[in-house]
Amino acid sequence: MQIPSQTTGQQIDQHIEHFRNAVRATRKRFASAEVAPDTICIGPDVTSVQNATAPGGTINLSFMAIVHGNEVGGLPVVTRLLDQILTGEIQLKSTIGIALGNIEAARVGRRFLDRDLNRSFGMGSLGESREGQRARQLQELLRRSRYLFDIHQTREPSQTPFFIFPWARRSFDFARMISKELPIVTHWGGSFSQDGMCSDEYVNAKGGTGITIELGQSGFDPEQIDIGFSCAIHALHATGSADVKQFGILRAPKEFTSSIYTWHGMIPYPQTGEVTLMPGFENFQTIVAGTLVARHNDQEITAPVSGRLLFPKYVRPGTPDADGPRPAELCRIMKNISSEELPA
Ligand SMILES: [Zn+2]
Repeated sequence: MQIPSQTTGQQIDQHIEHFRNAVRATRKRFASAEVAPDTICIGPDVTSVQNATAPGGTINLSFMAIVHGNEVGGLPVVTRLLDQILTGEIQLKSTIGIALGNIEAARVGRRFLDRDLNRSFGMGSLGESREGQRARQLQELLRRSRYLFDIHQTREPSQTPFFIFPWARRSFDFARMISKELPIVTHWGGSFSQDGMCSDEYVNAKGGTGITIELGQSGFDPEQIDIGFSCAIHALHATGSADVKQFGILRAPKEFTSSIYTWHGMIPYPQTGEVTLMPGFENFQTIVAGTLVARHNDQEITAPVSGRLLFPKYVRPGTPDADGPRPAELCRIMKNISSEELPA
């Protein structure tokens, strides 16, 4: 197992330390509760937190970061939230939750250790996997959350940040309340994964409203962190969770402004033999039907349909990905749809 380079590993440790210090400071100064390790519920007053800590008590809005351990960009976002709550720049009006998903995986630069945490929510039997145990801890927070904003990053670069969630009208509305401009990827008619649920799916199943944002390629990119933080501020405001003084501007590249996408095609990852994904694919790039996507032994795999590429999966030798099982998919292809094409 390869661990991230010295700098990255140290950076992650520092960010986690910063988060934990901010949590400790918040616990001292605000009405707050710890629902699970490395989570915090903070309320504007004691009563609201008592509600949140009572069985079934409501948390108005929760933020999550590093549900996938290597997608570290959300970590400074949630820490900045805590910092600004501490300085009074953010004044809470209702109880919010903040949670780190998979710290153990983050420390070693991996998406997960035993199983994908973001396919582990709501499962009856999770065995003794580390992610299974963490999912059980986090579910407590998630099922009490009225809204969830889960911050992720992609493996490869992305031409735009984007929201992604299983279709629900209220999730769509929540995303649009945060930003009228950022593209939305949504899907329906069958679970995204046949496994356990994603965090947003689990919140939806419990009657809340969950969405995920993909900021861009994984890492501590300052621009992505600013976008994530602006979204968080808009989410606090839109859900009536806080009085905020300053809103960041959220802009999408012109060709993606206010666009909506759904699945159009999927190319499975061959589970045996030599696989080479053609170099240079990015999220949201245009792809035309028939384009060579990958080589599998001596065969060519081409795009079955035209559209926009999503989640291309390069498995690079010497990276943590190379040690794990093969991905299920080489990539997805999306089509642009109008709001009229969304389910009722
Ligand atoms: Zn992710």
